[in-house]
Amino acid sequence: MADADGEGALLPVPRNETITLQVGNRQFTTYAFTLKESGYLKTAITSGKWSPSRINGAFFLDADPEIFSHILQYLQRNIMPLFYDNIKGHDHALYSRVLQEARYLDIPGLAKWLEEKQYLKLVRVRTWTEEKKTTDWTDDGADEIVKVQSKWEVRKAFVCPRGISPHNGHPNACGRQCHNARVNGANMFEDRCTFRTVLVKRKVIVDAQACGMEELAEPKDVVAEEQLVDAHEE
Ligand SMILES: [Zn+2]
Repeated sequence: MADADGEGALLPVPRNETITLQVGNRQFTTYAFTLKESGYLKTAITSGKWSPSRINGAFFLDADPEIFSHILQYLQRNIMPLFYDNIKGHDHALYSRVLQEARYLDIPGLAKWLEEKQYLKLVRVRTWTEEKKTTDWTDDGADEIVKVQSKWEVRKAFVCPRGISPHNGHPNACGRQCHNARVNGANMFEDRCTFRTVLVKRKVIVDAQACGMEELAEPKDVVAEEQLVDAHEE
């Protein structure tokens, strides 16, 4: 019997029929057709040699159910496995276990994706610094603050030659008379003590669309803000 997709029918299980897999202590029910990308499962089902368990009628697969759940998400919805924690980073041990299972079940697309460590491209970590000029700043909570550094700092500040206080610190505010009043034609500066707080901030951006998790996608304006930050990075 010819299949519309040219993939070969999953006989004896028809396309619209569900199949229940007993994986370790968990059961997974899905369309048999969903499993077609796995060379191992496809052969097992179509060969007819794989018989349902006499106890509950499910097909037994000797695998870790947690690992298999990630495999099934891929087969069902093309969701790529992403195991990322803000503090610990990527869970490489878990990727490795899913890779082993993808190889065993003969799922070349998923195995290749994991071998090439494509998941690294899904997570970008941006760090940047932000300066607060007052001591009473508050955290807006929008980004993770990695480090706070506060210190007194001496900075050179422009002094108006005519002592006009709104001009102090703003050389462009001085007019011709101020310029003429300069001693030996040189600008004057004084040391000014300022309290400076530097925040090191961090944001993790997950490319949700690429791993099939659209609901976690960052809004567009956040991306724009990140690009702005990049431009300020040294
Ligand atoms: Zn002036």
